[in-house]
Amino acid sequence: MEYSLDPPDWEALRLLGHRMVDDMMEYLRTARGRKAWEKMPDDVLSDLQQSLPQGPQKATAVYEDFLHNVLPYNTNNIHPRFWGWVQGGGTPFGMLSDMLASGMNANVSIGDHSAMYIEKQVLDWSKEIFGFPPSSSGILTSGASMANITSMVVARNHFHASIKQKGLRAVEGQLTVYGSSETHSCAIKGIEVVGIGSDNFRKVPVDENYKVRTKVMRTMIEEDRQKGLIPFCIIGNAGTVNTGAIDDLEELAAIAKAEGLWFHIDGAFGAIPYILPECKKQLKGLELADSLSFDYHKWFYMNYEVGCVLIKDAAAHRAAFSIPVNYLMTHERGLSAGPDPLSNYGMELSRGFKALKVWMLLKEHGIKKYAQMVRQNLHQAQYLANLVKEHKELELLADVPMNIVCYRWNPGRMSNEALNACNKEILMRLHEEGIALPSYTVLKDKYAIRVAITNHRSRLEDFAELAKATVRIANEMFVTQ
Ligand SMILES: *Cc1c(COP(=O)(O)O)cnc(C)c1O
Repeated sequence: MEYSLDPPDWEALRLLGHRMVDDMMEYLRTARGRKAWEKMPDDVLSDLQQSLPQGPQKATAVYEDFLHNVLPYNTNNIHPRFWGWVQGGGTPFGMLSDMLASGMNANVSIGDHSAMYIEKQVLDWSKEIFGFPPSSSGILTSGASMANITSMVVARNHFHASIKQKGLRAVEGQLTVYGSSETHSCAIKGIEVVGIGSDNFRKVPVDENYKVRTKVMRTMIEEDRQKGLIPFCIIGNAGTVNTGAIDDLEELAAIAKAEGLWFHIDGAFGAIPYILPECKKQLKGLELADSLSFDYHKWFYMNYEVGCVLIKDAAAHRAAFSIPVNYLMTHERGLSAGPDPLSNYGMELSRGFKALKVWMLLKEHGIKKYAQMVRQNLHQAQYLANLVKEHKELELLADVPMNIVCYRWNPGRMSNEALNACNKEILMRLHEEGIALPSYTVLKDKYAIRVAITNHRSRLEDFAELAKATVRIANEMFVTQ
């Protein structure tokens, strides 16, 4: 007797597969009718602490388990009123493309097979979207965090030819990186991971609109040089996570050029409006970066997970990650031929076929449709900001240059401390009542309800409902206290 993991009854599994597709289509189609969030009940939580399965269970039983214990308690970024952190909502066709990629089970790393060329095609399209030359390189990543780390490795190794072999000791002196105090924590993690250390990330102060103060950055670089430190990289923000602020990217590019520094841009979500003619001016300078990180799973609404990094100097990119070894040589013919292995451009060897959904979704909608969706989200942000400004009990806490609205309930007779506690309570009740899923931040000591709009299912009425519910919950709190 010989064994395999394929189903003993293909027909039964095929039927179950059809049911799964039907169920998931219905689940996505009817998202609006459900609560935005469901707390996991205790019996479900305890059901998710079972011992390691020793024997087999029927696929249908496993699926029932999923329907009962997993699906209803989704993070729910598929819901029209999800605006937490920065998360996209995925699409039904994206779900299906992930199924196809998983069915193929392609390992997109090395070899002469279609998936390698699909990723290359997607990278070429990405360069075109953001005005990077065809000679630049890139790689799809799990997200902008890995994209940022990838670019830090390239920037560091590019700085000095011996760093790759000898480590940071090859450089006499301390490498330092510059970026605004609003720079995302994952970029700082990247700086830690490449051995530079977060103390050597210079948090440059921001102006009243949360943009980096470029003059102060120039002074800091000069002072650091006088102290014997070695400035080597600037990180610009195209859309800060707190408020969506866009640094003066042209000016940062000019500083980097004058000082001989690597210029990286974290554009996780904020780079995407570059596809709109009316936003090109705000994001001018994006195309001047040495490296750019952005996500397909945020403001391109693609299914988790897929991000991307583009790097202008393809040779520097390859040099940072390639290690010639006997078992990864490219041949002239056969499966071992094909494009340059993607393991020469990143940390991972085995990689999934996330390029397929990007390829299929960009084809399904076309870039113009994405422009339309991003424009709709930008309009929704202004709409919500206006609702907040017009309501006497609501206060806008930051400028709205893009798709992020930070506001709070403020009836104008309470201390900041009390307001912070109240608004946190309002946020938790908005979630618990299943009304909407904004998240939070703290701006200048003020707790903010933060609405990040990268949702292709939201309508204007959803934002009106949020504003109304905020005020209702606040007032109920004072009645019940
Ligand atoms: C979300 C985000 C990141 C991290 O991206 P992931 O895809 O979650 O890894 C980095 N920078 C900014 C500005 C972000 O909003």
